[in-house]
Amino acid sequence: MFDANPNSLSTSVQFIKGIGEKRAKCLHEVDVKTVLDLLYYFPRRYLDRSHITKIKDLKENDVSTVVGKVQFCGIQPGRRKRRFVLVINDGTGLMSCVWFSRVQFWDRIFEKGETIAFGGKVGRYGRDYQMVHPEYDKLSEEGENDFLHTGRIIPLYPSNEALGKVGLDSRGFRRVLRGALKNYAHLLQETLPKYILDRQELISLRKAIENVHFPRSKNLLMAARKRLKFDELFYLELMLAYRKKNYAIKRKGIEFLKVGDRTRELIDSLPFELTDAQKKVIREIRDDMKKETPMNRLLQGDVGSGKTLVALISMMMSIENGYQAAIMAPTEILAEQHYLTLKKFVSDLGIKVVLLIGSQKKPERREILAMVKAGKADLVVGTHALIQEGVEFHKLGLVIVDEQHRFGVLQRASLIEKGLTPDVLVMTATPIPRTLSLTLYGDLDVSILDEMPPGRKPVKTYWRSDKKRPEIYEYVKNKIEDGAQVYIIFPLVEESEKVDLNAAIESYESLNEGIFAKYNVGLLHGRMKSEEKERAMTDFKSGQMQVLVSTTVIEVGVDVPNATIMIIENAERFGLPQLHQLRGRVGRGTQESYCFLIAKFPISRDARARLDTISKTNDGFKIAEVDLKLRGPGEFFGTKQHGLPKLRIADIVKDTELLLRTRQEAFQLAQEDKQILNWENMSIRAHFFKNYRDKFELAQVG
Ligand code: ADP
Ligand code: MG
Repeated sequence: MFDANPNSLSTSVQFIKGIGEKRAKCLHEVDVKTVLDLLYYFPRRYLDRSHITKIKDLKENDVSTVVGKVQFCGIQPGRRKRRFVLVINDGTGLMSCVWFSRVQFWDRIFEKGETIAFGGKVGRYGRDYQMVHPEYDKLSEEGENDFLHTGRIIPLYPSNEALGKVGLDSRGFRRVLRGALKNYAHLLQETLPKYILDRQELISLRKAIENVHFPRSKNLLMAARKRLKFDELFYLELMLAYRKKNYAIKRKGIEFLKVGDRTRELIDSLPFELTDAQKKVIREIRDDMKKETPMNRLLQGDVGSGKTLVALISMMMSIENGYQAAIMAPTEILAEQHYLTLKKFVSDLGIKVVLLIGSQKKPERREILAMVKAGKADLVVGTHALIQEGVEFHKLGLVIVDEQHRFGVLQRASLIEKGLTPDVLVMTATPIPRTLSLTLYGDLDVSILDEMPPGRKPVKTYWRSDKKRPEIYEYVKNKIEDGAQVYIIFPLVEESEKVDLNAAIESYESLNEGIFAKYNVGLLHGRMKSEEKERAMTDFKSGQMQVLVSTTVIEVGVDVPNATIMIIENAERFGLPQLHQLRGRVGRGTQESYCFLIAKFPISRDARARLDTISKTNDGFKIAEVDLKLRGPGEFFGTKQHGLPKLRIADIVKDTELLLRTRQEAFQLAQEDKQILNWENMSIRAHFFKNYRDKFELAQVG
């Protein structure tokens, strides 16, 4: 056998006492490759005296944990099937546990005389209490048997079947970790500066790692967890702090110095007053744009809060200073929408707006590209392809990114590669709870439009089973008679999903010939040619078309104030943010608006929660919070990840207070330090580079 290198935490786990090749292989599967990884393999929960219920005190239907000695266990014949039964005794009574499947397996797992903790819902079998398929943890280590008397806290580790088979169940991990801590804990190097440890009252890393595994007391366990959470969040924030700082130091941007007459002229030409929130945000953007440091700002505002207008005014400031501006939308339809809206506002002011999308014909595209390159186009509207496909600008001053959760570091890098350092404004209608925006957008400055234009009424929202569809359509028909316009939305998860697309087209046909035969019914989906799409949108906008059947392509950006009714089919399939976005298409004028969500049963519990939430509130932030709870932070932003490290112990939703503290420390450190390379404490620097290097380097590009 090999000898472990006693001097290194990066030694392969294979060389730890008690772990051989076989176990190491299983550990690799759960990303435990080195001694250090093992030390960071944290318990999933803990067992102590206060969690344990005596058998005599059990109550039916409670979820409880019982600790006792196995008095009997074995396979028993049943009426139809065999089962595995086990009886434990904790000195106050007897409880049985039963398994109806894999009886052979369980028969091999348990032995008479073992001390085991069982957890699960308490039921009854005859006169005895019983748990069916309980969770279990063997407590056979020295001292664990009588932990009830000693007040000891026992760590319970995550395991899986493969790990279990090689003896790495919770108990196995305890054994291995006890040994690993004894031999390696002294090698752990502090990862936080001393002044932070003192100021934040944190225990040392070594003590934290030791106590997170084998807590000497409840207080120490809490201190250990706090310390380790702090570490994770601190380094995350530090990375963001340096991203922000680097961008500011390294890139000289544009100073937009002219404070303008033309911008004023645009504002004066609007048919309404800007809201106070819009004014405030425009001021923030204006201040950023004046500075030499490139703007890097996130504009958050609920659907309908008037972001597009803020974008337009910002673009005008760029144009006024002799620079072009570009706005990028996530889909072609939205780009077209923006194009039409923006043109309407500025064409009288002598501003040349062009649209650049993939579906345009070659000659047309060539002509537009030439205009952009020659600086004849002031304002360029397109999709994200604008940047990816190497469009050449004459003088690009400002880029506005609409509705993207994250303007990727890579995208920015591709701008810089072209020698461009425009100001960047990212707009999002997804209200992001504060803690999340601090982590996901921690390197951006944030502006919030927290006020709606006057006269908006909440959209009355109802959800119904599809059995009620005929009644709803009848009701809607009456509304159309009174002059209303209607959106009917079909889910389309991917533009390429044929089944969904066909459902939308078929419904369009049957509505057009059936109940809405009298009216002008239109169809809109992503597969249509761009002239067709444009025609449908124009007809709907002008009021010639009463009913627009659409897939989710209209999700954001479409603006038809007279459209006061929306029907969403298969509403149970939509996520909360999507429902909120869609609904934002109605309620844009001053009239009462309605949204009918039609759900096809059976629906899941989560779907029901979503439909209930959206029916009860119009507040985007409330909706986002529920969404965050339902889906958890990991999935909150869908599959796209943000290039942020995975958190093992901290929870950005629950550990808000700690997050704010780490943020403050991290940003202060980044502020005071000229360069990360100057850090006195080399182990901190090493830690940062080892774990965050990739992300950091990307950040330097951006
Ligand atoms: P968002 O992009 O935030 O969803 P929009 O910019 O599309 O919102 O604005 C929604 C609607 O409100 C548009 O019809 C827009 O013209 C109008 N609007 C914007 N700002 C104001 C304002 N200050 N007063 C009245 N209406 C406004
Ligand atoms: Mg600037």
